[in-house]
Amino acid sequence: KLVSREFKTQDTRVAINNVVVGGDRIVVIAGPCAVESLDQAMTIAKQVKRYGAVLFRGGAYKPRSSPYSFQGLEEEGLKILARVREETGLGVVTEMTSPSQADLMEQYVDVVQIGARNMQNFELLKCVGKMKKPVVLKRGLAATIQEWLMSAEYIAAGGNTDIILCERGIRTFEPYTRNTLDLSAIPVLKKLTHLPIVIDPSHATGIREKVSPMARAAVAAGADALMIEVHHDPDNALSDGPQSLYPEQFGRLMRDIYTIAPVV
Ligand code: PEP
Ligand code: MN
Repeated sequence: KLVSREFKTQDTRVAINNVVVGGDRIVVIAGPCAVESLDQAMTIAKQVKRYGAVLFRGGAYKPRSSPYSFQGLEEEGLKILARVREETGLGVVTEMTSPSQADLMEQYVDVVQIGARNMQNFELLKCVGKMKKPVVLKRGLAATIQEWLMSAEYIAAGGNTDIILCERGIRTFEPYTRNTLDLSAIPVLKKLTHLPIVIDPSHATGIREKVSPMARAAVAAGADALMIEVHHDPDNALSDGPQSLYPEQFGRLMRDIYTIAPVV
């Protein structure tokens, strides 16, 4: 398998402009769940940048659990992300939900994300396998590590090996958190694959106050990167407000992380 350690013993380093995921330093990706407006995205981007994030996240295509929830600004959202990149210098990460979005993604963003619900959308995986953009591949809601790696293999088999695996919590019997963060996936993956790992404690816990402890634990356990949802006004966020950190809270988390490991 192309993604296996047997195939390649050396760690894969995924370069996103001048940022390397999988190197000696922790990369922090931060931003809102969804791009809501130019003003919202720019405000949050400037704040997370000031606190040390080097990549900005924000969804433009939002396949929500309910069809009546906010579905994203779509192409308009991608244009906002491109403006944010231009003005802040931060690389931008966004979810791609259909092969029909490939050209727009190539044009406007730096990294494409495959959402948990699409981890086994094989047509989508084959499509990003042909793209010239790094891919964040989220673990499916109830996917085993082996299934997740086979999904990564679909992308690699198409020729794109710039893959970052994202653990974002899996579904268990425990309702106290939105999902259960499988931190043991980090040492398991480090043995099985050369691909770098990003941990998303925001979707894993679903609760703001649980995000920082799990982010710190992830770094201590050997994660290569973190993806954190941050919003300047979480109470009025159009999606995932309850798990979004206030900017100052994100700043405190960054300071804590600096004490655990070197950060980009
Ligand atoms: C997201 O990153 O905003 C998202 C929808 O995540 P997931 O696919 O992990 O639910
Ligand atoms: Mn979200």
